Amino acid sequence: MFSFEIIEKHGGHEEVILCTNKDVGLKAIIAIHNTTLGPALGGTRMWTYKTDEEALVDVLRLSKGMTYKAAVSGLNLGGGKAVIIGDPKRDKTEGLFRAFGRYIESLNGRYFTAEDVGTNVADMEFINMETRFVTGIDTRHGGSGDPSPFTAHGVLMGIKACVKEKLNSDSLRGVRIAVQGVGNVGYHLVEFLHEEGAVITITDTDRERVEKTAQKFNCKTVAPDQIYSVDADIFAPCALGAVVNDDTLPQFKFKIIAGGANNQLKEPRHGDALKERGILYAPDYVINAGGLMNVYVELEGYSRERAHNMTKQIYHNLMKVFATAKEENITTYKAADRVAEARIEMVGRIKRSHLGKSLRPFNSLKVDQR
Ligand code: NAD
Repeated sequence: MFSFEIIEKHGGHEEVILCTNKDVGLKAIIAIHNTTLGPALGGTRMWTYKTDEEALVDVLRLSKGMTYKAAVSGLNLGGGKAVIIGDPKRDKTEGLFRAFGRYIESLNGRYFTAEDVGTNVADMEFINMETRFVTGIDTRHGGSGDPSPFTAHGVLMGIKACVKEKLNSDSLRGVRIAVQGVGNVGYHLVEFLHEEGAVITITDTDRERVEKTAQKFNCKTVAPDQIYSVDADIFAPCALGAVVNDDTLPQFKFKIIAGGANNQLKEPRHGDALKERGILYAPDYVINAGGLMNVYVELEGYSRERAHNMTKQIYHNLMKVFATAKEENITTYKAADRVAEARIEMVGRIKRSHLGKSLRPFNSLKVDQR
């Protein structure tokens, strides 16, 4: 059941839009959480939600997460997300995405979409036929293409920050790292770590990927359930969420958790447990923001070099989070939230005190490149 109560419970969203079109079977929700810093940006997830309420809760949670991710990353973006209720293997049509694109267009730049679980570049191309407020489109149309090398580069920068903080070293040479998942992000991360001289152990449920990656970058391999007990300095989750939990925590010999996966802590208390055990945790939404930075650059005319340089900032973003955690004697995941909230609060105050509005209209962003 939809209700204002559910919306209020999930954190003060500015706007929630229900999108329907019977002709093409569209049922979607766009949630704009906060646009203090800029237009809301976040991907469109297509999923077989069991109930409409489940879809609503998901889009509310994800859009709020985007506000924090953009804020802590120093981007002038707000948080938003969309979900399309349907089976991505069965229900995709041109009409569905074009109808959805028209809803995005009607928001006149308050929300920009991108790919997410269940959607891909081809779907973004259909959306782009109806609106320019879409990112992650094909490189031939001025888009930024696959974000995963940028996500991986950001994770590398984050790992360097962790090594500086915890091991007081500027080098990854000889540092032992266990990487879980060598898919899009994990594979590129292993490539970068190899160049830096790290000692790498990998795992993946896909045997072929493990073999290819291990051979190319000279890695040790372990079975998927053995990765948590590897004797390494760093654990880099690059596959699933909720990998820091009651079962895995007692197995850890790691000093640092720093990887690209979303929602690594099963529950907040697992972040507290890491702190108690003296394990440094790089909050996931700070360290994996390279992909978001990449699409952000797309808004003002894409440049790979600029996107690459922007991901280097993740080193400093994490250092700020670690400094805040120490100053306030809190966990790093709480410190990340505080850094994000402080920035939104500061920019909000400036905007309220100066003419009351953003001087730059959101719909001036994103030049249509076609
Ligand atoms: P992917 O699907 O390309 O790679 C995931 C890999 O993990 C696959 O090779 C899969 O076989 C493996 N895997 C699945 N279950 C596993 C298990 N139990 N043990 C070991 N390996 C397992 O996905 P991706 O794009 O590389 O994304 C990885 C993670 O990073 C996800 O959590 C994603 O949400 C997050 N992330 C990705 C990006 C990006 O730019 N792609 C950006 C931000 C966050």
